[in-house]
Amino acid sequence: MVTLNNPQMLNEAVAKWRGQGEIIAFVPTMGNLHEGHLSLVEKARQVADRVIVSIYVNPLQFGVNEDFDAYPRTLDEDQHRLETQAVDALFLPTTTMIYPRPPEQTTTVDVPELSTILCGTFRPGHFLGVATVVCKLLHLVKPDILVLGAKDYQQVAVIQRMVEDLFFAVKIITGETVREVDGLAKSSRNQYLGIEERQIAPILYKTMRESVAQVNSSEATLSIIESEAKQALTDAGFNCEYYEFRDAITLSQVQPGDTELILVAAVWLGKTRLIDNVPVTLR
Ligand code: AMP
Repeated sequence: MVTLNNPQMLNEAVAKWRGQGEIIAFVPTMGNLHEGHLSLVEKARQVADRVIVSIYVNPLQFGVNEDFDAYPRTLDEDQHRLETQAVDALFLPTTTMIYPRPPEQTTTVDVPELSTILCGTFRPGHFLGVATVVCKLLHLVKPDILVLGAKDYQQVAVIQRMVEDLFFAVKIITGETVREVDGLAKSSRNQYLGIEERQIAPILYKTMRESVAQVNSSEATLSIIESEAKQALTDAGFNCEYYEFRDAITLSQVQPGDTELILVAAVWLGKTRLIDNVPVTLR
């Protein structure tokens, strides 16, 4: 694995591989790598000849009161883990490289509507930061395939829209959410959970699975299923931001006739924000 610290080195590596007719897959991350990230690397390996991983904690996607400073940075361990994963290149951009101008002069990418619903309501500017950094990374890396985790469902929708609207010649593939044995979706932020909170946290996914099972097996409407689940989560100690069935493709409110839905949720457990999603087909 080569570690590339500047766009020129990256360009040279990519140009060489492309000249050899090789397919390049790219896995962008913020580091603190866990099995979720590594499953995406594995997926990339299966569909491409070359795999490039980036690690960059993107300040633009964090709100002013969010955890940018506290976000776990574990570059040495990450590098060791990637060495064992047959990754061809690790790209480590710096903030001066990605954002050479002050924030008020920075060109940004806004994906309207999709960026302002669900997580976007509670994290204004978050998806503008995500779309901007992914746009820049795609221009720098120029991959054939972009591998994203379905855990960040709305993020995939936003990036997919940006890729379509800005004519990026890249194919997006998604990897399933990797979970702890008790069902909690793996996340770098899980380490913020206290011991008791860690025991409560799996209730989120358990509740979501129960809600999804109810959809086709009970008379209850979607909104009743949502409000009962929210109450159960509140009773268990969570603070719900949202817990909603949405159209799986557009993420808009469910309309009569929709069959492919996604249950999406964002909750707080103490100072830790957890997100998750579970698909469901209406029968
Ligand atoms: P992050 O480092 O949190 O920005 O995540 C980098 C990529 O890993 C994103 O595409 C995430 O959706 C994906 N990812 C994060 N957690 C998981 C997980 N538990 N399972 C699968 N993919 C994940």
